Amino acid sequence: MSSLTDSKTNEVFSRVDSGFKHRLANFYSGDTLRFCYQCGTCTAACCLSQLISVYRPNKILELASLGIRNIPQSNTYLLCSACTQCTKSCPQGVNVHEVMYALKELASEDEYAWDYILSGLEENLKALSLEIPFPVSYTWVSLVAPSDDEKKNRFYERVKDVLLRSLANFKKEEKLSPKPDADKVAIIGSGPAGLTAAWELSRKGLSVTVFEPLPEAGGMFMVGIPFYRLPKDVVKAEIDNIKAMGVDIKTNTAVDKEFFKNLLDSGEYKSVFVATGAPANRNLRIEGENLEGVVPVLDFLRKFNLNEPMKVGKKVVVIGGGNVGIDAARTAIRCGAESVQLFCLESREEMPSHEWEIQDAIREGVVVNTSWGPKEILGEDNKVSTVKFIRCKSVFDENKRFKPVFDESKTETAEADMVIIAIGQAPSTEFLGKMVALERGAVSVDPQTMKTSLEGVFAGGDTVSGTASLVEAIAAGRVASASIISYLEDSRKEGDAL
Ligand SMILES: Cc1cc2nc3c(=O)[nH]c(=O)nc-3n(C[C@H](O)[C@H](O)[C@H](O)COP(=O)(O)OP(=O)(O)OC[C@H]3O[C@@H](n4cnc5c(N)ncnc54)[C@H](O)[C@@H]3O)c2cc1C
Ligand code: SF4
Ligand code: SF4
Repeated sequence: MSSLTDSKTNEVFSRVDSGFKHRLANFYSGDTLRFCYQCGTCTAACCLSQLISVYRPNKILELASLGIRNIPQSNTYLLCSACTQCTKSCPQGVNVHEVMYALKELASEDEYAWDYILSGLEENLKALSLEIPFPVSYTWVSLVAPSDDEKKNRFYERVKDVLLRSLANFKKEEKLSPKPDADKVAIIGSGPAGLTAAWELSRKGLSVTVFEPLPEAGGMFMVGIPFYRLPKDVVKAEIDNIKAMGVDIKTNTAVDKEFFKNLLDSGEYKSVFVATGAPANRNLRIEGENLEGVVPVLDFLRKFNLNEPMKVGKKVVVIGGGNVGIDAARTAIRCGAESVQLFCLESREEMPSHEWEIQDAIREGVVVNTSWGPKEILGEDNKVSTVKFIRCKSVFDENKRFKPVFDESKTETAEADMVIIAIGQAPSTEFLGKMVALERGAVSVDPQTMKTSLEGVFAGGDTVSGTASLVEAIAAGRVASASIISYLEDSRKEGDAL
């Protein structure tokens, strides 16, 4: 709800409405809106809807298809993180997340509506802050894309003002300490899933210790998502709030097999939540991958986000066409690379990254080369110098399974003094040994409760789903914390927790 008066609101929307439907139809897939029959499946699939009741994708679509007039809750679309669960679930093939993005674009273009939209944002952030520990970081990532459009940037500057003001206000929220006889819970991994669970459990009076191998907490919020999309002092401020509640975050502390076994055996912790994400870089398995200058994407992004020393090449080649590859390419541009070429197996239409991110990357100078597969990386004096590619004729078989087919007669070479490999990430689960059941390399859980096969041990986030999204990891942390609480209550009654 807006704090503007009704008459002011009406005035705003009478201006915004003009040509709205036509413009929406011209965004990526806006015209698919007409196939929506309001079944609500997208809303049921949306993790954000489960967090705040004012967020209902199907309702937003209904109102958008009518025109933007009289949509008091429309500004909730600013919180959509484009996780794509809605689109994947829609029986009608509506690209829901792209419509949400189109609405954000329209919002940034329509100066008359800014006061209205921003007053709504503040209220939505407040609602979100009651449900998750990172309302500002989450919204910043979801909303703010750097741009060369002056007007859009002015809108984003105003959005940032709201976000920073909220950050300062939320700091004044209630601080808690664990009860003296509280049960102790160990959380492995301090990403969005782990810290959401830590926050929830701490709010319920439990004593929580989080183990994190890196020098900074926050998982991909801190070390994956590039600094230009999310300032790290914003993440730190929200993590400080979590620490101030009494959550003990032990950084520089990796959990290995022995550590994990001790956690279980010591009896100190009554339950364990595994939230170690998907930190393993996938390899290309081609000649030359070990040459100096060939870097896995998560190492590249981590070093920049943590200000660790790393020299960016002049001629950078990024291999992989997903969002993470695009993030790496745009980071390399910002770090002074003279040329950045991105190569991927997929055709332009099949590229897994969001269309708007590809367009932003191209605008910033990234050259996108589609339908090429890496064949070999060549070097001189053990340093990378060239990457050879062969034409990729198709990426998926008739059952939509990943099965690339190449035409070796068509080749391409790219000179490079740095190659960033961004072909996917996977959970790293060796430390669990054989104690916890896995499924295709990820931790296997009951999706209703996040229980693993081992009594008292829960898991959630990317370590279960593979690389997914912030909102899904946050939702998993919430589900796991609720299950841990009921597990501990039941165990107290029976006197047999871990
Ligand atoms: C470059 C990049 C950009 C992204 N951009 C977006 C975006 O714009 N929007 C979006 O919604 N999602 C985005 N994502 C995905 C999102 O960041 C992840 O889905 C989310 O962070 C998963 O949360 P998590 O808590 O499960 O895991 P993570 O965030 O990966 O956190 C796991 C933590 O566990 C720690 N850990 C690992 N092994 C151990 C161990 N043995 N012992 C102790 N701790 C351990 C790790 O160091 C890490 O801190 C992006 C991901 C990347 C890589
Ligand atoms: S799932 Fe598809 S058809 Fe159903 S409400 Fe959402 S967009 Fe409309
Ligand atoms: S993209 Fe994700 S957050 Fe946005 S509406 Fe769809 S399911 Fe919800």
